[in-house]
Amino acid sequence: MTRVAVVGSGNAGLCAALSAAELGAEVIVLEAGGATDFGGNSRYTAGAMRFAYRGHDDVLALVDAEDPRIAACDFGVYAEAEFEADLRRFSGGAELNPLQRLLVGESRPTLQWLANSGVSFEPIYSRQAVLAEGRYRFWGGLTLAAAGEGEGLVNRERELAEACGCEFALNAPVAALRQSQGRVVGVRTASGVEIDADAVVLACGGFEANADQRASLIGAAWRRARVRGTALNQGAGLTLA
Ligand SMILES: Cc1cc2nc3c(=O)[nH]c(=O)nc-3n(C[C@H](O)[C@H](O)[C@H](O)COP(=O)(O)OP(=O)(O)OC[C@H]3O[C@@H](n4cnc5c(N)ncnc54)[C@H](O)[C@@H]3O)c2cc1C
Repeated sequence: MTRVAVVGSGNAGLCAALSAAELGAEVIVLEAGGATDFGGNSRYTAGAMRFAYRGHDDVLALVDAEDPRIAACDFGVYAEAEFEADLRRFSGGAELNPLQRLLVGESRPTLQWLANSGVSFEPIYSRQAVLAEGRYRFWGGLTLAAAGEGEGLVNRERELAEACGCEFALNAPVAALRQSQGRVVGVRTASGVEIDADAVVLACGGFEANADQRASLIGAAWRRARVRGTALNQGAGLTLA
């Protein structure tokens, strides 16, 4: 059986873990934090997920159609071209790179996969819709959020991954990638535990909570920035061991 080690328990790590476990791999998620830090920045989010959709039916396929408000929703269309244009606006008009194109093209199938796996989504009535003449008119392309926001999302993803046999190790910061004959063969935690893996997924966030790295990599003024999310995304420079 293929063994997969996932480093980090945010939305990225949990999706990787769930996907691998659904496909029959033996999966372990290693998370630096304990129960209160589980889920990383993803726990702090509204669980809002931008995705391209062609109209009402695409959205309907992702939500609880029994909710009486659904019949009063005008979701409109958020075409892939609009999503791409929104991304370009955030990067000074630069052409999209292959990863950004993948993000757009796979956005709806990915939400559909999560929904099929058991994550519930709800329209963001409070912030992304205007109520006029009894109709909720959605705007901005940010139409759905996971039920229970970020906390609901990561807890549900963990539940689903555990149901597929995925193991979770908390308080287990990964310090190094183990290698043999030029390939990664596992990880080593800070306390020295060695884990073998056929594949390692690094989903341990960025360096935004590390003031020194912010100052040296993006400018001195960023030392003063306040972090709203997890304190554990320290830009772990995972060394090859
Ligand atoms: C307040 C706030 C609100 C936001 N709202 C939204 C929103 O509504 N919608 C949206 O799309 N985005 C939102 N974002 C952005 C979103 O949080 C990130 O894009 C997303 O969470 C990144 O997910 P991730 O899994 O890559 O990282 P994270 O969720 O941060 O997970 C990284 C995990 O790795 C762990 N880790 C770090 N180092 C190690 C190590 N060495 N070993 C083991 N584990 C390690 C961390 O403890 C953490 O749990 C928001 C961000 C913040 C801060």
